[in-house]
This record gives sequence, structure tokens and C-alpha cells, in this order.
Amino acid sequence: MTETALTELPVITHWIDGAPLLGVSTRTAPVFNPALGAVAKNVLLASSVDVDTAVASAQAAYPLWRDTSQAKRQGVMFNFRELLNARKGELADILTAEHGKVTSDALGEIARGLEVVEFALGMPHLSKGEYSENVSTGVDVYTLRQPLGVVGIISPFNFPAMVPLWFFPIAIAAGNTVVLKPSEKDPSASNWMAALMTEAGLPDGVLNVVHGDKEAVDALLVHPDVQAISFVGSTPIAKYIYETAAHHGKRVQALGGAKNHMLVLPDADLDLAADAAVNAGFGSAGERCMAISVVVAVEPVADELVAKITERLQGLRVGDGMRGCDMGPLITEVHRDKVASYIDIARADGAEVVVDGRGIEVDGDASGFWLGPTLFDKVTTDSDVYLDEIFGPVLSVVRVASYTEGLDLINRSRYGNGTAIFTNDGGAARRFQNEVQVGMVGINVPIPVPVAYHSFGGWKDSLFGDAKAYGPAGIAFYTREKAITSRWLDPSHGGINLGFPQNA
Ligand code: NAD
Repeated sequence: MTETALTELPVITHWIDGAPLLGVSTRTAPVFNPALGAVAKNVLLASSVDVDTAVASAQAAYPLWRDTSQAKRQGVMFNFRELLNARKGELADILTAEHGKVTSDALGEIARGLEVVEFALGMPHLSKGEYSENVSTGVDVYTLRQPLGVVGIISPFNFPAMVPLWFFPIAIAAGNTVVLKPSEKDPSASNWMAALMTEAGLPDGVLNVVHGDKEAVDALLVHPDVQAISFVGSTPIAKYIYETAAHHGKRVQALGGAKNHMLVLPDADLDLAADAAVNAGFGSAGERCMAISVVVAVEPVADELVAKITERLQGLRVGDGMRGCDMGPLITEVHRDKVASYIDIARADGAEVVVDGRGIEVDGDASGFWLGPTLFDKVTTDSDVYLDEIFGPVLSVVRVASYTEGLDLINRSRYGNGTAIFTNDGGAARRFQNEVQVGMVGINVPIPVPVAYHSFGGWKDSLFGDAKAYGPAGIAFYTREKAITSRWLDPSHGGINLGFPQNA
């Protein structure tokens, strides 16, 4: 990350103890408006001292918040839900300005985040313990689910609102306090949401936001007062987070990268499949961990399917997210250039470049970080185009001879986040859901992001640790069970017995 001096541009501060805080570090990073290709703000990058301040605030707020009644905690969450729903347009504008995604997509991201807030409103029911009466004579056993304490959340650039919302509403509703470290590339959404939580009545210190890079993350991973870490980002960092935080005794969930395949069987409706491939491949400019990046076409349908996808790409409008376009820019120039470099790699590796997204006409400033929809056909599975997570508006078609060949391909991938099958054959779909080694599966659904009351997470290198995000897994992650065995003595239970307790 380049260091830039504090300039006259707005500076994004941390949010600690219910208010903006400059902290002690003066290191900053630029935050771009990707549609303009220009630095719009600078964000402070926390030092470990700033992280200590945030954790101390969360630690100080914890005892009171933990012992605040469920009814009062739910009241705050309900207020937050209402405020967020009423003011989601403001947040969508922040997302478009810093991430670049188009307004409709930004609102979609917020809607999926709101679902988790609504799920967290059920916390009193969801975190109920169990009770067994008279397990031994006069003895009852019951379990409580209690919060952990201070938890850290580290989130990626591609969903600046939704990914934090996967975690902090559940953590907070369960009685934990939070230090959130969002992506330094689009940090403002987290401050906005933290301020809204304060407006909703959240006590100071329950939700803190520190901005920063590796230095801030590392400080969270080793901090003795942080009990758990929730991470979402790329696979190498997810693995590092998992290993480091676990080594320091923390509960960890670390969701990583992806390379999602869409298997199209010959009996599929090819128009629906082409629509799905375009929507899931190019929505948010392909910067989604659940984006489809490989279409696996089972012959003889590949020619027809590629033609239908190509036709649809001609109609996509690329441009400024505020102007009703279909697809916005990429997050940074560096990332755009890296994604575009795969066009030459594809050609060199023998793929057919059907649509080359470089130099397209855009409805936006020429300096924006643009790359148009790009389509490769006949991609070979030893090419980096196939193997790497490109994370941009690039769709590869791999041709296979059979269902089995396609399934083997998917199962050999190091990633296992999402996948989809397109078919009209229920038996084939059922077989696929059973045989595929992937954590989230769509049947004629290209982006199978589970609703908030199921849990989100992949397999293999797409998730480190055994805890998925939100849903029942989120409740389990942010609470720990305590089992209580109780006996209210009467004189008949007296006497000495040094043997191991047996039930009678
Ligand atoms: P990233 O891994 O670069 O960054 C994620 C977070 O880690 C950021 O907060 C960043 O500041 C921090 N970070 C970066 N480098 C670090 C380092 N060396 N040490 C410690 N912390 C570091 O990811 P990104 O580019 O922001 O996001 C895109 C990636 O996230 C893609 O790989 C995408 O697939 C993945 N993602 C996965 C999911 C999922 O649910 N599995 C969801 C969204 C995004």
C-alpha cells in the first residue's frame, strides 16, 4: 500500500467508542472513485496502538452489553433494521462511489445484508438453551449460550456493506462487542453503518471500526482480549488468518476465494442458461466470490451456448454506476490491469478470445478503471485463465464430453465455494447435488447465496475452519455453550461418596 500524505482531501477516520477518532497513526491509503479513476479520499491506516484503543473500547463496553436484557438488545437491532431500510439509498451511493458497483447492485447487496439483521432479531429464540429435568434424583441439567466477549471482523472490498452485515448484527445481538476492520479500498460504508447503530441506540464501544492494512489485522489476530475472528477475503490471506489467529487461541472462521463453475447439460434451456451465465459472470464486474467464472458446456451445446452468451454481451452497458448502467468499473487500476492481462494469457494458451473487453465504449469518465465483458472459449484446464481466481468481468467456457467429465473437473478444483447445474433432468440435478464437492450448489440458480437462516460458506480452499457465516453457524460461532448441573439439596442427599458422580 502506498503511503500518501494527509492532503486537503477528506480523511476517513476510525470509529471508536461511538465517535470518529483520528488515532495516533498518520499513515494513510488512497480511496478511489473507480468510475472517475481519481483519488477521492484518504483513509487512515491504524497502528497496533490504534487497534489497542479499539479493543479496549470494546472490552470496556462488554460487561454492560452482555448483561443488557435480550429485550433491550433486540430493541436496538430493530431500530437499526428500520433505519437501514429507510436510508439504504445513502449507503448505496457510498458503495457505488467507492466500489464502483451500479446502484441496483448496491441496493441488492444491502437487501441481502438486511436479511441477516432480520435473522439476528430472532436471537432470543435462536440462542435459547436446553433443559433436562430430574436427570438424576433431584438433579436438573441445562445449557446456556453465552457471548464470547470482543470479536474481530475483517472484511474484503467486494461487499463493503453485506459482508460486515453477515457478522456484526449476529455478534452484537448475541451480546458480544466488535472491532470491525473493513477493506481499506472502500472503508466508508462501515463508518456509516457504525454511526447508524449509534443512532439506533447502541451503547458506545459495542461496535468499533478500525481502518488499516496488514498492521491492523496482525494486531487483532494476536490481541489477548480478542476472543474470535471472522474473516472474508482471498485464499492466501484466509489461510494466514486462520493459522495465526488459531495459534493465538482464538475461534476463527476464514472464508476465502473461489472459482465457480456452472455445468450446462445438453438438455438445459440454453436461453435461460445464457442469461444466467451473463448475470452471474458479469454482475458487479465479476467481483463476487459467488460469480460464475467458468461455464462447463457438455457437448454438443457449446457452440450454441457461446453464441447466445456473446449476443447478450453486446447489449450490456458499461459505465458509471450512478447512471443506470449494467456494469461498473473495477476497484483499482492495478486490479483492472491484472484482470485484463488474462486476455493475452488466454490467447497464448490457445483459448479463443470471443469477446475482448479492452477499449470498449463506456458511459463514464475515460479515466475510470474500465474493462468490458470478456469471453473466452475452448479454455484448457492447465491455463492460468482456468486455474486462477481472476475476479473480474471475464468468463471462460470449457467444453467437456459428458456430465462425468464436467463433475470431475469441478471436483478437482482447489476451490469449493459455489457451483450451479443447468438442466431439465431432475435425476441429474439430484445426482450432482450429491456428488459435487462444493459448499453451495445451485440447481438452475446461478448464484446460490443461501438465505440468512441457512449458513454461507464453501469447502476446500474457500473456507478455513469449520464455521460457516450467518444462519445457525453464525449463532454457534458467536456464542459458547455452558452446561449446568444443579441440585437443590434436601437432607436426604447428604453423605460422603468419593466415587465419580453417577446418575440414579
Ligand atoms: P484480500 O484478501 O486482499 O483482503 C481482505 C481483507 O484482508 C482486507 O480487510 C485486507 O485489508 C486484509 N488483508 C489484505 N492483505 C493482508 C495481509 N497480507 N495480512 C493481513 N490482512 C490482509 O481480499 P479482497 O481483495 O479485499 O477481496 C476479494 C477476495 O475476497 C476474493 O478472493 C474473493 O473471492 C474473496 N471473497 C470471498 C468471499 C466468501 O464468502 N468466500 C466473499 C467475498 C469475497
